[in-house]
Amino acid sequence: MHIAIVGAGISGLTCARQLQAQGHHVTVYEKSHGVSGRMSTRQTELGGFDHGAQYFTATSERFRKESGDWRKVGWITQWEGKLASLDGGVSKAAGNGTKRFVPVPGMSSLGKHLAHGLDVRLEQQVIGMEQAGKQWLLSVKAETVPVSATAGPFDAVVLALPADQAIPLLQLAPAFAKQAQKARLAPCWTLMLGFQSTLELEYDGAWVNHSRLGWIARDTAKPSHRAGERWVCHATAAWSLKHLEDDPERVKEKLSKAFHEATGSHIQPIHAVVHRWRYSQAVEPLAEDCMWNAKQRLGVCGDWFAVGLEGSGRIENAFLSGLALAKAIAA
Ligand SMILES: Cc1cc2nc3c(=O)[nH]c(=O)nc-3n(C[C@H](O)[C@H](O)[C@H](O)COP(=O)(O)OP(=O)(O)OC[C@H]3O[C@@H](n4cnc5c(N)ncnc54)[C@H](O)[C@@H]3O)c2cc1C
Repeated sequence: MHIAIVGAGISGLTCARQLQAQGHHVTVYEKSHGVSGRMSTRQTELGGFDHGAQYFTATSERFRKESGDWRKVGWITQWEGKLASLDGGVSKAAGNGTKRFVPVPGMSSLGKHLAHGLDVRLEQQVIGMEQAGKQWLLSVKAETVPVSATAGPFDAVVLALPADQAIPLLQLAPAFAKQAQKARLAPCWTLMLGFQSTLELEYDGAWVNHSRLGWIARDTAKPSHRAGERWVCHATAAWSLKHLEDDPERVKEKLSKAFHEATGSHIQPIHAVVHRWRYSQAVEPLAEDCMWNAKQRLGVCGDWFAVGLEGSGRIENAFLSGLALAKAIAA
């Protein structure tokens, strides 16, 4: 079959690799200029900032095995940063006993490895889908071209996108659209700070209590990251939701203040930039592993499927969901 995968995050790339290994002809469409989705590294003059996902854990046997393989080939490594919880400037050691992994040299590098050998079309946003007999045609838009082009025909289509971004493409699959509406992905305002000198904080990452910020991490403490003093700060889901449409400058001010309050450091940054993630983590994932309609040959996967795991959707969910969809297609 010729299969189109929409989205080159970890779920789409995992599904694409499996399908290609099964002998299918796979084409991946990605709207951004790079692969990896929310496993993202923002490059700046000071060095990279992993401003989306921070690290991943592996709880299922299948993901532990895959992570072990990635580790053996040097794509990821364990992050043994000193972690703490912060309350009113007081830090307490926290989060010990869990193995955390990071791609090296940056979060986005895992996706780049996974994309190797796949036909990935970057800067191609899929804006519509139509059925032509038993096949699919996609409407694809490039930022630089004013009109959309038609791609296909494809024998099957996989949507590997956050639920809210999949819904507009599911007009011909109303039952899937209805299911997708039940998943909830929380937003996250992210602040990236760069300093000329070290802040001399005794931790590399911290969960922040009673603050606009929920998590801060010294990006430069991660293995193979460029030296320096760069921090990534994530606002809580509740604060991000409340301030979703705020002016970025105002958000920067508020989150910078929260950073100084949380850490007790008053050193001023030489670099401060915010990024708004409309969809960060799936706080209410669906119970299933993925969705597949064999008659229509249409599938959906992503981190908003629980795939048997507890808690919010994360990288492990995305991987397992992509894998589950490839299995369903093979069956
Ligand atoms: C701030 C933040 C912090 C996080 N922290 C962690 C963490 O510490 N640990 C953890 O495990 N997880 C974390 N996550 C979640 C983790 O990043 C995601 O669970 C995982 O990366 C999702 O992968 P995915 O493939 O399902 O989706 P995505 O990575 O979102 O991939 C979807 C891709 O589809 C593309 N796309 C969207 N619409 C279209 C379209 N119409 N046409 C073409 N392409 C399209 C997007 O550009 C994107 O590349 C975090 C996420 C964020 C944002």
